[in-house]
Amino acid sequence: MDSSLGGSSARLQDPKLLNSIAASYEYSNSIPLKIWLRSATTMLKHGQYYATDGNLTETYVLYLRYVDLLANRLYKHPELKNWKTSKDGAINRQTYQNMCKKMPEIMNEAERIRKLLDAKYLEQQQRQPRPYVPRPRATPMAKRSSESSLSLSPEPQEDLNASLASKLRTLSSSSANNSQIKLDISYPNEFAIESETEPPVLPKKPISSSAAVHKTVNFTEGGSPLRTVFLPPKLVDEFLTIAKKNTSKKLETCGILCGKLNRNAFFINYLVIPEQDSTPNTCNTKNEEKLFDFIDNLDLFVLGWIHTHPTQSCFLSSVDLHTQNSYQIMLNEAIAIVCSPKFERKLGIFRLTDPPGIPTITNCNLSGFHPHETDNLYVECHRTNSDGGHVVLKDLPFEIKDLR
Ligand SMILES: [Zn+2]
Ligand SMILES: [Zn+2]
Repeated sequence: MDSSLGGSSARLQDPKLLNSIAASYEYSNSIPLKIWLRSATTMLKHGQYYATDGNLTETYVLYLRYVDLLANRLYKHPELKNWKTSKDGAINRQTYQNMCKKMPEIMNEAERIRKLLDAKYLEQQQRQPRPYVPRPRATPMAKRSSESSLSLSPEPQEDLNASLASKLRTLSSSSANNSQIKLDISYPNEFAIESETEPPVLPKKPISSSAAVHKTVNFTEGGSPLRTVFLPPKLVDEFLTIAKKNTSKKLETCGILCGKLNRNAFFINYLVIPEQDSTPNTCNTKNEEKLFDFIDNLDLFVLGWIHTHPTQSCFLSSVDLHTQNSYQIMLNEAIAIVCSPKFERKLGIFRLTDPPGIPTITNCNLSGFHPHETDNLYVECHRTNSDGGHVVLKDLPFEIKDLR
């Protein structure tokens, strides 16, 4: 399994540590609510992928993080508080409420997984001659300083004399009512969870994947793993062909890079051209509901974006940095591709550094073009012989959808 997170063959972390890992991620109210809502959706999707793949540790962390984000962070978001006067306030509020409705089910599932992890960990401890003291490690959604509290209390009581078999039997018949896990949730009554929720969304039966996984060989500056992203180079050529008309008018064009997670690596297999407003140095997506509907219906991950600089060289502008930050909040591995057809260095594949890029931009409240005081906010991440990045060019089939 995933080398960074300990699948069935790897040494397990003490499940007690996973709660603090789940609660530690960069958060700021200055990031638009819709970005956080997309981020939560991605967390859930990601968690469900890992559940299907049998990686319970990763699933547990992502489910807890989903609950933490909704219940402990977002309910205080200004756009939610002032939804009546916020742009798309009513839509975002509805989305938030719908997501909150999924929380009881997610928490029950997290609780079930926690018990399995506790049992596995106990079994591992008993097999080892000396106690192993694991250290928290980074998770895909990044490790962070945190002000949030995700408390599970009381700590499960381990009965060292109980046989694992009887423990597992008990676990499998446990219900939410004798919960050993309590999440400290403090969202206000107006977002109270209604009991009649949507149909179950969780895969119940993990399938074991015997195929080899892609080893994670890249890490952020802070040590979080960056799984490999495979990018078909012809997709960039096709994008430039689509953009040609705008480029000749000195207008930017943007596209969304989507794909699949498979055996611990991402594969970009869809280029989606969203409805957009273009100028010579900006490009903003519009009617994003349509875009997200399309992406969700095909069960795709958003793996980054691509845009042209018809008149400028190949770099990330300050506006681009903020755009890229919102993609990386959703997914650590998300990339920004910049194409500058007029310049010698035509193509750049970038990500924000972490740190200093992600914390700097997340906590920057400015909009429009503006300077940042910190250097080294982003890096090239195309893997070449001399340079180890997490993006690998590889000829793979892909599709294009133009939503304009
Ligand atoms: Zn740009
Ligand atoms: Zn800024």
